[in-house]
Amino acid sequence: MRKITIIGAGLAGCEAAWQVAKRGIPVVLIDMKPGQMSEAHHNPNLAELVCSNSLRANRLENAVGLLKEEMRRLDSLILACADATAIPAGGALAVDRDLFAQCVTDRVKNHPLIEFRSERVDVVPEQLDAPLIIASGPLTDGTLFDSIRDRLKLATLHFFDAAAPIVTIDSIDLSIAFRQSRYGRGGDDYINCPMNEAEYQAFYTELVAAELAEVKDFDREIVFEGCMPVESMAKRGVDTIRFGPLKPVGLVDPRTGAEPYACVQLRQDNQAASLYNLVGFQTRLKIGEQKRVFSMIPGLQQAEFVRFGVMHRNTYLPSPEMLDPTYRVRRDEPIYFAGQMTGVEGYIESASSGLLAGIQAALEYQDLPIPARLAVLPTRETVIGSLAHYIASAENKHFQPMNANFGLIAPLVGKFRKKTDRQQAVIERALLEIDQVVGKLL
Ligand SMILES: Cc1cc2nc3c(=O)[nH]c(=O)nc-3n(C[C@H](O)[C@H](O)[C@H](O)COP(=O)(O)OP(=O)(O)OC[C@H]3O[C@@H](n4cnc5c(N)ncnc54)[C@H](O)[C@@H]3O)c2cc1C
Repeated sequence: MRKITIIGAGLAGCEAAWQVAKRGIPVVLIDMKPGQMSEAHHNPNLAELVCSNSLRANRLENAVGLLKEEMRRLDSLILACADATAIPAGGALAVDRDLFAQCVTDRVKNHPLIEFRSERVDVVPEQLDAPLIIASGPLTDGTLFDSIRDRLKLATLHFFDAAAPIVTIDSIDLSIAFRQSRYGRGGDDYINCPMNEAEYQAFYTELVAAELAEVKDFDREIVFEGCMPVESMAKRGVDTIRFGPLKPVGLVDPRTGAEPYACVQLRQDNQAASLYNLVGFQTRLKIGEQKRVFSMIPGLQQAEFVRFGVMHRNTYLPSPEMLDPTYRVRRDEPIYFAGQMTGVEGYIESASSGLLAGIQAALEYQDLPIPARLAVLPTRETVIGSLAHYIASAENKHFQPMNANFGLIAPLVGKFRKKTDRQQAVIERALLEIDQVVGKLL
């Protein structure tokens, strides 16, 4: 009998397997565990949380909280097990990691339509008589990534060891920061945060003294000069970053009419221009330290960070070039990708891509025509859909891993008395659409 194959039984792979099997379709789920583990995996069970045991905020007013509620309504296995194994953590959803992995493993392995195989996959299967979902994660082992690259004829697979923080446009103080490109080339593409000498000295002193996040063993192998954390560069000398990411040349501060002493540039990060990343600010600082030190940058005092800088091995695909918003490759082969390797960032985001890829692969298996499949794909008005569309956005030139956030959601037009009223309307709009999708899927 034809079966859908899923490679990788992490958060994305297990969620995808569940979504396929609950539609009555047989699945082969393959993971190299427990015989072989990546450098970050230690638990013999599936769906292992490799680092924190927090799945982050649970409140609907937070995008990842709304994403969770959307996934609950779509019958997510990962959310069901997370809720069943939750432990007190204030407004966050944190879990007992061992009970959580046990719960997912039991549900997956006891499902009559899911056949689990423990083996390492090194090659993308040649002949496919049913959809294939690849969800082997950011630490994909062996030669599987080489095989993916060859099969999809990709020049490169992104390899990113450090990422810079991202802030929302609404939280940047544009009475201080100004739009301009260096030497006037390229329009007003960048937002510039100018510093005078005293501001630079104060910032520099805190940057080089700030606390670093713990380095795991597997991080040590990776140090790229081109991706050097900003604090490491700063430690080479007081002016080094003024000749690097904080160089002011070619910029004129409209408030003074002169070149600033130093300048931090922010680059647009999404199509909607609601998010901006700090150029050259890949960092290993602890999250609290990033907030404290980077908020000293003029114009960013009230900045809302939707993603903090991170540093770890992270191999991910150039998804905008190769995936559509159903997480399927844009070519005539039924291959889907899911999880962190698609460029979504985070446990829940990874599971959410597995959820959509699983549903879509199941519908393709059932020979549903493409318009019918797209009719149940959540739109940009939902968190789950906005993330999928972000990943597949061909105009996404500076593609980097992305967390769920409200900046990705389609704006809601109309007048609202308060910001919270608008947010409430966005939440209601998203959940209404998800309920409609659930209805159609029935
Ligand atoms: C070190 C590290 C720390 C992280 N910390 C956090 C955090 O604290 N919070 C957060 O939200 N996100 C974190 N992330 C990001 C991300 O959320 C996790 O990586 C998440 O586990 C991704 O889910 P996934 O399903 O894509 O991959 P995984 O959960 O990694 O699952 C992939 C599975 O594929 C299997 N596999 C790999 N290669 C093969 C192969 N060739 N053949 C067969 N099986 C294979 C693996 O054994 C694994 O079980 C972290 C990532 C890393 C790398």
